[in-house]
Amino acid sequence: TPTPEAAEAPPARAPITRLWAYARQHLRLLVIGGALSFAGGLVGLVQPLIAMDVIDTLSANESLTRPLLYLGAVVLVGGALGALGPYLMQIAGQDVVLTVRKQLIDRLVRLEVAEVDRLKPGDLVSRLSSDTNLLRTVASTTVIGGVTDGFMILGGIALMAWLDLALFGTTMAMVAFVTVTMLFIMPRIQNATVASQKALGDMGSLLERIFSAFRTVKASSAEDHEIGRLDKAATAARDTGVKASFWEALAGVVAFLPVNIAFLLVLGVGGARVASGAMEVGTLIGFLLLLFYLMGPINGLVASLSQLQTGLAAIHRIEEVENLDAEEASDEGNLPEAVRIPVGSGPAQVTFENVTFRYAEDLPYVHHGVTFASSGRGLTALVGPSGAGKTTVFSLIERFYPATTGSVKVDGVDVVDWPLAELRGLIGYVEQDAPVLDGTLRENLVMAAPEATEADIDEVVTVARLTELVGKLPDGLDSRIGYRGTTLSGGERQRVAIARALLRKPRLLLLDEATSQLDAANEAALKQVMLDAAERTNVLVVAHRLSTVTSADQIVVFDAGLVRAVGTHAELVEKDDLYRDLAASQLLTAA
Ligand code: ADP
Ligand code: MG
Repeated sequence: TPTPEAAEAPPARAPITRLWAYARQHLRLLVIGGALSFAGGLVGLVQPLIAMDVIDTLSANESLTRPLLYLGAVVLVGGALGALGPYLMQIAGQDVVLTVRKQLIDRLVRLEVAEVDRLKPGDLVSRLSSDTNLLRTVASTTVIGGVTDGFMILGGIALMAWLDLALFGTTMAMVAFVTVTMLFIMPRIQNATVASQKALGDMGSLLERIFSAFRTVKASSAEDHEIGRLDKAATAARDTGVKASFWEALAGVVAFLPVNIAFLLVLGVGGARVASGAMEVGTLIGFLLLLFYLMGPINGLVASLSQLQTGLAAIHRIEEVENLDAEEASDEGNLPEAVRIPVGSGPAQVTFENVTFRYAEDLPYVHHGVTFASSGRGLTALVGPSGAGKTTVFSLIERFYPATTGSVKVDGVDVVDWPLAELRGLIGYVEQDAPVLDGTLRENLVMAAPEATEADIDEVVTVARLTELVGKLPDGLDSRIGYRGTTLSGGERQRVAIARALLRKPRLLLLDEATSQLDAANEAALKQVMLDAAERTNVLVVAHRLSTVTSADQIVVFDAGLVRAVGTHAELVEKDDLYRDLAASQLLTAA
């Protein structure tokens, strides 16, 4: 439940702490892989020393067999470790991504409806797919690789100091320069990456909106306009990506130029000292080889640092999702023992007591004190002008949002005191647009009642008048509907949604009628389905059709967030002028 405190994002933990929290769940693989890589690096460091030995042996005119064998062994072992270590760490990296994705998936699907209202779905998709992917390398090879590279560089530097102090001094000046410049460049890579990922998220959101209103876009000949907006987001991703690359390239130059300058200096200074006899030629070659060898780790360290910046940017965006309000899966509620009625034991009772409600603090009130009740078997119709707050009534019963003041009760218990799963378990809800989800017709039915038997399914198919549809679909109940499947008509979708809701054997059925007109056959079928359901349970229907309304046992007339009258059709035609007008115009046109 959102509280004023929760509305403000809690102070974010340092992304690096977050990274550690993710990585430490896969520490064993990381440590083994890291140790192997590290060992591989150490073995590599020995290479220049053996090479020095080879050259000294050569000048001493001794047999080369032994040092060359050593060198061969070192190359082999180093190569094997250098492949196996990073491979193990990449596995760990994939495991980290999987862990984070599972956390995100859980969070996203359990989000409060209110959060989803104000979020951009396409952006959430990009956080789940692309930002988590940026995390893969950084959670595996980057940190350990960076540490290994750091050690290699330190080790190499120590060896240099041991070989020759003057040459070492020259090299160190260059290292200091590199370090300072990197500190300047790294945050810029991170900022550019955040901007780039954000642009990608925006692009995803735009595209998602376009596809959800595809026919409207086409019918409005708005393709060019929408393409323009998408191109702009794509260009923004390109520009920020280029910016990140610029800083990365600069980082590369900053790391390499000084090393190359050091190379020249060492060659010059060292060469002169060798000529004057102050230095062995083997020592100079060893020093140069070390410098040469260090280019790998330096390159690696620079890459690690920019990967780290990219990864931290991704963690920032993932963290934002982690901070959104989700419903507690384990919500225990506060249900008095006396109300614990086993599911399926008769119609549930609904009571609204002086309910006020607004969708957000900065939005106007939608309900201004709604009071009505519905109990027992039968049909209660909610009618009223569009925007009066009828659909909102259902959202409050399902506790998609909490009432602002007043109470919404089911079986005499405030919905906020119900364990969420139990509350929703007793309700069958048919949304206004009755969307179907990706999958087969059968999957669409049993999603709400996984334990339903074949006989249960047959029954709701009959009750919801879906037999004909099932007969005409290519694979019957196992035909795909939704994406890549047969597209159902509005009336068919609605009956699928009703069948789904009925499969739960609900104690309360909430049905939000589509405003679009159904053909006569569909309408008659729908009415019969409703009446059948009302024989068994408490049915609340947001009604747009006279046939529904006249069949209702009770009609609740909504106007501008208030209940203005309650009664039967005959009573209301008699006593309520708004209802009379409504029946005459809006409702009667359907008859
Ligand atoms: P009805 O079903 O009677 O047509 P609704 O209950 O859907 O009306 O909506 C009542 C009012 O609440 C409308 O003014 C609508 O714009 C507003 N509203 C509906 N859903 C939301 C939402 N998710 N966020 C903000 N405002 C909403
Ligand atoms: Mg509505």
